[in-house]
Amino acid sequence: MSKETLDEYLAVTLEITNHLRFYREMGLEDLGGSQRVFQEYQQTDSVSESSDTAKLTRSSEQSNEPRVDQAPIDLFGETISTHDQSSRQRGSKRLPVLESNDASLEAIRKDIGDCTRCRLHEQRRTIVFGEGDPQAQLVFVGEGPGAEEDATGRPFVGRAGQLLDKIIVAIGLKREEVYIANIVKCRPPGNRTPELDEVATCEPFLLRQLAFIRPRVIVALGSPSFQCLLRTREPITKARGQWREWNGIKVMPTFHPAFLLRSPDKKREVWEDMKKVRDYLSTSGSSN
Ligand code: URA
Repeated sequence: MSKETLDEYLAVTLEITNHLRFYREMGLEDLGGSQRVFQEYQQTDSVSESSDTAKLTRSSEQSNEPRVDQAPIDLFGETISTHDQSSRQRGSKRLPVLESNDASLEAIRKDIGDCTRCRLHEQRRTIVFGEGDPQAQLVFVGEGPGAEEDATGRPFVGRAGQLLDKIIVAIGLKREEVYIANIVKCRPPGNRTPELDEVATCEPFLLRQLAFIRPRVIVALGSPSFQCLLRTREPITKARGQWREWNGIKVMPTFHPAFLLRSPDKKREVWEDMKKVRDYLSTSGSSN
Protein backbone atom coordinates (compact mmCIF):
# COMPACT_ATOMS: atom_id res chain seq x y z
CA MET A 1 0.00 0.00 0.00
CA SER A 2 1.43 3.42 -0.95
CA LYS A 3 1.92 6.06 1.73
CA GLU A 4 -0.77 8.22 0.12
CA THR A 5 -3.33 5.42 0.21
CA LEU A 6 -2.41 4.64 3.78
CA ASP A 7 -2.82 8.31 4.81
CA GLU A 8 -6.18 8.44 3.08
CA TYR A 9 -7.26 5.22 4.76
CA LEU A 10 -6.21 6.56 8.17
CA ALA A 11 -8.02 9.86 7.62
CA VAL A 12 -11.25 8.06 6.66
CA THR A 13 -10.94 5.71 9.62
CA LEU A 14 -10.43 8.64 11.98
CA GLU A 15 -13.45 10.43 10.55
CA ILE A 16 -15.67 7.35 10.94
CA THR A 17 -14.42 6.80 14.47
CA ASN A 18 -15.22 10.40 15.39
CA HIS A 19 -18.72 10.09 13.94
CA LEU A 20 -19.36 6.87 15.79
CA ARG A 21 -18.10 8.40 19.02
CA PHE A 22 -20.47 11.31 18.51
CA TYR A 23 -23.42 8.99 17.94
CA ARG A 24 -22.49 7.02 20.99
CA GLU A 25 -22.36 10.19 23.09
CA MET A 26 -25.85 10.94 21.87
CA GLY A 27 -27.01 7.49 22.95
CA LEU A 28 -27.86 6.67 19.34
CA GLU A 29 -28.44 3.02 18.77
CA ASP A 30 -30.82 2.79 15.86
CA LEU A 31 -29.38 4.48 12.82
CA GLY A 32 -31.18 2.25 10.33
CA GLY A 33 -28.69 0.58 8.04
CA SER A 34 -25.78 1.66 10.18
CA GLN A 35 -26.98 -0.43 13.11
CA ARG A 36 -24.56 -3.27 12.44
CA VAL A 37 -21.60 -0.95 12.19
CA PHE A 38 -22.68 0.69 15.42
CA GLN A 39 -22.97 -2.65 17.17
CA GLU A 40 -19.51 -3.60 15.98
CA TYR A 41 -18.22 -0.31 17.30
CA GLN A 42 -19.94 -0.94 20.62
CA GLN A 43 -18.27 -4.31 20.92
CA THR A 44 -14.83 -2.88 20.37
CA ASP A 45 -15.31 0.25 22.43
CA SER A 46 -13.84 0.13 25.90
CA VAL A 47 -16.50 2.28 27.62
CA SER A 48 -18.78 0.09 29.73
CA GLU A 49 -22.23 -0.12 28.17
CA SER A 50 -23.99 -0.57 31.48
CA SER A 51 -22.63 2.64 32.95
CA ASP A 52 -23.55 4.42 29.74
CA THR A 53 -27.07 3.07 29.67
CA ALA A 54 -27.56 3.95 33.29
CA LYS A 55 -27.25 7.59 32.34
CA LEU A 56 -30.07 7.17 29.81
CA THR A 57 -32.85 7.86 32.24
CA ARG A 58 -35.48 10.47 31.73
CA SER A 59 -36.61 11.49 28.28
CA SER A 60 -39.87 9.53 28.03
CA GLU A 61 -41.08 10.76 31.42
CA GLN A 62 -40.31 14.33 30.49
CA SER A 63 -42.26 14.12 27.28
CA ASN A 64 -45.32 13.24 29.38
CA GLU A 65 -45.16 16.48 31.29
CA PRO A 66 -48.35 18.49 31.01
CA ARG A 67 -48.26 20.80 28.05
CA VAL A 68 -48.33 24.50 28.76
CA ASP A 69 -51.04 25.89 26.53
CA GLN A 70 -50.40 29.12 24.75
CA ALA A 71 -52.75 31.29 22.81
CA PRO A 72 -51.95 30.55 19.17
CA ILE A 73 -50.27 33.37 17.39
CA ASP A 74 -50.38 34.14 13.72
CA LEU A 75 -47.52 34.85 11.41
CA PHE A 76 -47.28 38.43 12.53
CA GLY A 77 -47.56 37.81 16.24
CA GLU A 78 -51.29 38.46 16.63
CA THR A 79 -53.38 36.10 18.73
CA ILE A 80 -55.66 34.01 16.54
CA SER A 81 -59.33 34.20 17.57
CA THR A 82 -61.08 31.05 18.79
CA HIS A 83 -63.31 31.18 15.74
CA ASP A 84 -60.34 31.17 13.36
CA GLN A 85 -58.80 28.39 15.34
CA SER A 86 -61.77 26.09 15.24
CA SER A 87 -62.35 26.68 11.57
CA ARG A 88 -58.70 25.90 10.94
CA GLN A 89 -58.88 22.78 13.06
CA ARG A 90 -61.91 21.60 11.09
CA GLY A 91 -60.21 22.38 7.82
CA SER A 92 -57.51 20.61 5.90
CA LYS A 93 -53.90 20.30 6.92
CA ARG A 94 -53.09 23.39 4.88
CA LEU A 95 -51.86 26.43 6.72
CA PRO A 96 -54.08 29.38 5.76
CA VAL A 97 -52.36 31.78 8.12
CA LEU A 98 -49.10 31.04 6.44
CA GLU A 99 -50.12 32.18 2.99
CA SER A 100 -46.97 33.65 1.60
CA ASN A 101 -46.89 36.63 -0.71
CA ASP A 102 -43.34 35.88 -1.66
CA ALA A 103 -42.49 34.36 -5.01
CA SER A 104 -39.19 33.00 -3.78
CA LEU A 105 -36.71 33.08 -0.95
CA GLU A 106 -34.56 35.26 -3.17
CA ALA A 107 -37.33 37.87 -3.15
CA ILE A 108 -37.16 37.97 0.64
CA ARG A 109 -33.39 38.27 0.51
CA LYS A 110 -33.76 41.12 -1.96
CA ASP A 111 -36.06 42.95 0.45
CA ILE A 112 -33.46 42.72 3.17
CA GLY A 113 -31.00 44.42 0.85
CA ASP A 114 -27.90 45.87 2.44
CA CYS A 115 -29.86 46.22 5.67
CA THR A 116 -29.30 49.05 8.14
CA ARG A 117 -32.64 48.68 9.94
CA CYS A 118 -31.08 47.97 13.34
CA ARG A 119 -27.77 48.56 15.11
CA LEU A 120 -26.52 45.06 14.34
CA HIS A 121 -25.56 46.23 10.86
CA GLU A 122 -22.82 48.43 12.32
CA GLN A 123 -20.42 45.61 13.13
CA ARG A 124 -21.54 42.87 10.81
CA ARG A 125 -19.50 41.77 7.83
CA THR A 126 -22.10 39.68 6.05
CA ILE A 127 -25.84 39.24 6.26
CA VAL A 128 -26.53 35.59 6.98
CA PHE A 129 -29.86 35.00 5.32
CA GLY A 130 -30.21 31.24 5.70
CA GLU A 131 -29.68 28.33 3.37
CA GLY A 132 -31.02 24.96 2.34
CA ASP A 133 -33.87 23.42 0.43
CA PRO A 134 -36.68 25.95 -0.20
CA GLN A 135 -39.08 22.98 0.00
CA ALA A 136 -37.57 21.49 3.13
CA GLN A 137 -39.85 19.57 5.46
CA LEU A 138 -37.57 20.46 8.34
CA VAL A 139 -36.26 23.90 9.29
CA PHE A 140 -33.78 24.62 12.06
CA VAL A 141 -33.97 28.07 13.61
CA GLY A 142 -30.99 29.34 15.57
CA GLU A 143 -30.34 32.58 17.33
CA GLY A 144 -27.99 34.62 15.21
CA PRO A 145 -24.75 34.32 13.26
CA GLY A 146 -21.44 33.91 15.05
CA ALA A 147 -17.98 34.91 13.85
CA GLU A 148 -17.60 32.24 11.18
CA GLU A 149 -21.10 32.75 9.89
CA ASP A 150 -20.46 36.49 9.73
CA ALA A 151 -17.30 35.85 7.75
CA THR A 152 -18.82 33.36 5.31
CA GLY A 153 -22.43 34.50 5.04
CA ARG A 154 -23.62 30.95 5.81
CA PRO A 155 -25.57 29.84 8.91
CA PHE A 156 -24.16 27.31 11.34
CA VAL A 157 -20.74 26.72 9.84
CA GLY A 158 -18.66 27.13 13.02
CA ARG A 159 -18.20 24.51 15.72
CA ALA A 160 -21.85 24.58 16.67
CA GLY A 161 -22.68 24.19 13.00
CA GLN A 162 -20.49 21.13 12.67
CA LEU A 163 -22.38 19.61 15.55
CA LEU A 164 -25.68 20.53 13.92
CA ASP A 165 -24.49 18.81 10.73
CA LYS A 166 -23.94 15.63 12.71
CA ILE A 167 -27.36 15.89 14.28
CA ILE A 168 -28.91 16.26 10.82
CA VAL A 169 -27.03 13.22 9.52
CA ALA A 170 -28.03 11.27 12.62
CA ILE A 171 -31.72 11.64 11.69
CA GLY A 172 -31.03 10.38 8.22
CA LEU A 173 -30.97 13.68 6.36
CA LYS A 174 -28.39 15.73 4.53
CA ARG A 175 -27.74 19.37 5.31
CA GLU A 176 -28.92 20.30 1.80
CA GLU A 177 -32.28 18.65 2.49
CA VAL A 178 -33.17 20.90 5.41
CA TYR A 179 -33.31 24.66 5.75
CA ILE A 180 -31.28 26.53 8.35
CA ALA A 181 -31.94 30.09 9.45
CA ASN A 182 -31.63 32.40 12.41
CA ILE A 183 -33.81 34.87 14.21
CA VAL A 184 -31.44 37.73 13.44
CA LYS A 185 -29.40 37.85 10.27
CA CYS A 186 -26.48 39.91 11.48
CA ARG A 187 -23.97 38.86 14.10
CA PRO A 188 -24.61 40.39 17.52
CA PRO A 189 -21.28 41.83 18.75
CA GLY A 190 -19.40 39.36 20.89
CA ASN A 191 -22.12 36.78 20.16
CA ARG A 192 -24.40 38.38 22.72
CA THR A 193 -28.09 37.47 22.73
CA PRO A 194 -30.01 39.70 20.32
CA GLU A 195 -31.95 42.54 21.96
CA LEU A 196 -35.73 42.64 21.74
CA ASP A 197 -35.80 45.51 19.26
CA GLU A 198 -33.25 43.77 17.04
CA VAL A 199 -35.38 40.64 17.07
CA ALA A 200 -38.51 42.66 16.33
CA THR A 201 -36.81 44.30 13.37
CA CYS A 202 -35.38 41.14 11.84
CA GLU A 203 -37.93 38.50 12.73
CA PRO A 204 -40.45 39.37 9.97
CA PHE A 205 -37.91 38.12 7.43
CA LEU A 206 -37.60 34.79 9.23
CA LEU A 207 -41.37 34.53 9.39
CA ARG A 208 -41.60 35.16 5.66
CA GLN A 209 -38.99 32.47 5.07
CA LEU A 210 -41.00 30.03 7.18
CA ALA A 211 -44.23 31.02 5.45
CA PHE A 212 -42.65 30.45 2.06
CA ILE A 213 -41.06 27.12 2.95
CA ARG A 214 -43.98 25.80 5.00
CA PRO A 215 -41.98 23.01 6.63
CA ARG A 216 -43.71 20.25 8.51
CA VAL A 217 -41.40 20.67 11.48
CA ILE A 218 -39.42 23.56 12.90
CA VAL A 219 -36.68 22.74 15.36
CA ALA A 220 -36.16 25.73 17.63
CA LEU A 221 -32.54 25.65 18.74
CA GLY A 222 -32.17 27.18 22.17
CA SER A 223 -34.18 29.57 24.29
CA PRO A 224 -34.13 32.73 22.16
CA SER A 225 -35.34 30.85 19.10
CA PHE A 226 -38.04 28.96 21.00
CA GLN A 227 -39.19 31.96 23.01
CA CYS A 228 -39.27 34.20 20.00
CA LEU A 229 -41.23 31.82 17.77
CA LEU A 230 -43.70 30.77 20.44
CA ARG A 231 -43.98 34.17 22.13
CA THR A 232 -43.29 32.61 25.50
CA ARG A 233 -40.96 33.01 28.44
CA GLU A 234 -41.00 29.34 29.20
CA PRO A 235 -37.44 28.11 29.67
CA ILE A 236 -36.04 25.73 27.09
CA THR A 237 -35.04 23.38 29.90
CA LYS A 238 -38.72 22.82 30.59
CA ALA A 239 -40.03 22.88 27.03
CA ARG A 240 -37.47 20.80 25.24
CA GLY A 241 -38.67 17.55 23.85
CA GLN A 242 -42.31 18.57 23.90
CA TRP A 243 -44.13 19.18 20.65
CA ARG A 244 -45.48 22.69 20.31
CA GLU A 245 -47.31 24.25 17.44
CA TRP A 246 -46.83 27.42 15.51
CA ASN A 247 -49.34 28.28 12.84
CA GLY A 248 -50.17 24.64 12.37
CA ILE A 249 -46.52 23.66 12.08
CA LYS A 250 -45.03 21.32 14.65
CA VAL A 251 -42.25 22.91 16.66
CA MET A 252 -39.70 20.89 18.58
CA PRO A 253 -37.75 22.97 21.09
CA THR A 254 -34.34 21.60 21.91
CA PHE A 255 -30.97 22.71 23.19
CA HIS A 256 -28.74 24.82 20.98
CA PRO A 257 -25.68 22.98 19.62
CA ALA A 258 -23.42 25.65 21.15
CA PHE A 259 -24.81 24.66 24.54
CA LEU A 260 -24.04 21.03 23.75
CA LEU A 261 -20.42 21.98 23.11
CA ARG A 262 -20.28 23.29 26.65
CA SER A 263 -22.43 20.54 28.15
CA PRO A 264 -21.88 17.38 26.10
CA ASP A 265 -23.86 15.34 28.61
CA LYS A 266 -26.99 17.02 27.20
CA LYS A 267 -26.51 15.42 23.79
CA ARG A 268 -28.64 12.49 24.78
CA GLU A 269 -31.58 14.75 25.48
CA VAL A 270 -31.20 16.40 22.10
CA TRP A 271 -31.04 12.99 20.52
CA GLU A 272 -34.32 12.03 22.22
CA ASP A 273 -35.89 15.20 20.81
CA MET A 274 -34.49 14.59 17.36
CA LYS A 275 -35.79 11.04 17.30
CA LYS A 276 -39.28 12.47 17.75
CA VAL A 277 -38.67 14.77 14.80
CA ARG A 278 -37.31 11.94 12.68
CA ASP A 279 -40.24 9.68 13.57
CA TYR A 280 -42.80 12.38 12.89
CA LEU A 281 -41.29 13.16 9.51
CA SER A 282 -41.21 9.51 8.55
CA THR A 283 -44.74 8.65 9.59
CA SER A 284 -46.96 11.56 8.80
CA GLY A 285 -47.08 11.64 5.02
CA SER A 286 -44.89 13.26 2.47
CA SER A 287 -46.83 16.39 1.57
CA ASN A 288 -47.01 19.62 3.48
N1 URA B 1 -25.42 29.97 16.35
C1 URA B 1 -26.61 30.32 15.84
O1 URA B 1 -27.60 30.46 16.56
N2 URA B 1 -26.69 30.51 14.53
C2 URA B 1 -25.66 30.35 13.70
O2 URA B 1 -25.83 30.52 12.50
C3 URA B 1 -24.44 29.96 14.27
C4 URA B 1 -24.33 29.78 15.59
